[in-house]
Amino acid sequence: MCDKCQKALVAEKVKVRYLEGNFEVELLKCPTCKMVFISDELAMGKMLEVEKGLEDK
Ligand SMILES: [Zn+2]
Repeated sequence: MCDKCQKALVAEKVKVRYLEGNFEVELLKCPTCKMVFISDELAMGKMLEVEKGLEDK
């Protein structure tokens, strides 16, 4: 739910480019104010995952 609009959020796949890699993340977006919700936990988790993946190569 969006705190501001009290609308249900929609999940949307967004392409993210980080370092050498392209990957898709699912973000929650408010259909009314277009605010994208991304938790710090998710952001950190993704970044760590990607960094770890690169190190292995
Ligand atoms: Zn909203």
